[in-house]
Amino acid sequence: TAALEDRSQRDPMTGLYNRHRMEAALSAEFERSERTGSPLSVIFCDVDHFKNVNDNHGHQAGDAVLIDVARIVQDEVRKADIVARYGGEEFVVVLPDASAEAVRHVAERIRTRVEGHAFELPNGRILRCTISLGAATHGETGDFAHQDALLHAADECVYAAKRSGRNRAVVRGD
Ligand code: GH3
Ligand code: MG
Ligand code: MG
Repeated sequence: TAALEDRSQRDPMTGLYNRHRMEAALSAEFERSERTGSPLSVIFCDVDHFKNVNDNHGHQAGDAVLIDVARIVQDEVRKADIVARYGGEEFVVVLPDASAEAVRHVAERIRTRVEGHAFELPNGRILRCTISLGAATHGETGDFAHQDALLHAADECVYAAKRSGRNRAVVRGD
């Protein structure tokens, strides 16, 4: 059924698409971008010092933080964008038709929302968290040979964001 098919494409905890579904969408959008020349952007997000949340407040508190981060990311993007849980505390957004300039604004908006959010833990305590983001665009500033190279470029920007102190959004080409 459609419901079962949808479930197999989603991460049960956050309700976001899973990595497999994101990769299928990215592949289709990469082909479309090649064909039409419209830009295609990817944002890679990684929660800062997330291990500390688990270590200091427990795994359930960590899960609660991830659920809130997932909702914030989904909230800040357009309906046509694909938001996925890539791995543990990592999220990926695929943004069809988004230019490098547009994706910079989206990434910065996500960063600001997370920074300002009061994360409520299962025990009622309030926690602050930040997120580091990397973004890359195909078809405009740089051209990639394959969708994996585009995703990898966004991931590399996350490392640059972490190196420069975390709670940053770094766009490829900065
Ligand atoms: P950095 O700022 O460099 O990203 O540091 P970090 O602590 O966020 O990075 P690291 O990759 O060391 O830690 C990620 C942690 O995420 C480790 C793992 O136990 C935790 N994790 C992965 N999946 C889940 C999950 O589903 N729930 C919870 N609570 N924790 C998870
Ligand atoms: Mg990580
Ligand atoms: Mg992390």
